[in-house]
Amino acid sequence: MSDTIFHKIIRREIPADIVYEDEHLVAFRDIAPQAPVHVLFVPKVDFATLNDVPMTQAEVVGRLAVAAADYAKREGFAEDGYRIVMNCNANAGQTVFQVHLHLLAGAPLGRFGTAR
Ligand code: AMP
Repeated sequence: MSDTIFHKIIRREIPADIVYEDEHLVAFRDIAPQAPVHVLFVPKVDFATLNDVPMTQAEVVGRLAVAAADYAKREGFAEDGYRIVMNCNANAGQTVFQVHLHLLAGAPLGRFGTAR
């Protein structure tokens, strides 16, 4: 396994506020939330970016999205709505090179595409 901060969280080497885990992925609260709810869904298999996920392993990405939707339903904000985001490489501002999906919710969200 690689050695990003997310791998360390998966291995429990550094703390995180983990809200969900199964055999395939871990979900934990973002340390710098950009919305009232900001949870990261991270697979337990190594892919640095979305570019690195082959079509034969598309389920890795699908599970992140469906796990996020399930979390939204369990937490009661699925009907109000939420956004899922995956940043890929420099122009999207990706900072952690283990593929992950952001779940943002809890308030009306601005339109996407604004610079950080
Ligand atoms: P990205 O820009 O898509 O690579 O997103 C990486 C996210 O990881 C950012 O939103 C960071 O705030 C978040 N992050 C970085 N370190 C941690 C950490 N130790 N625990 C939780 N979230 C983190």
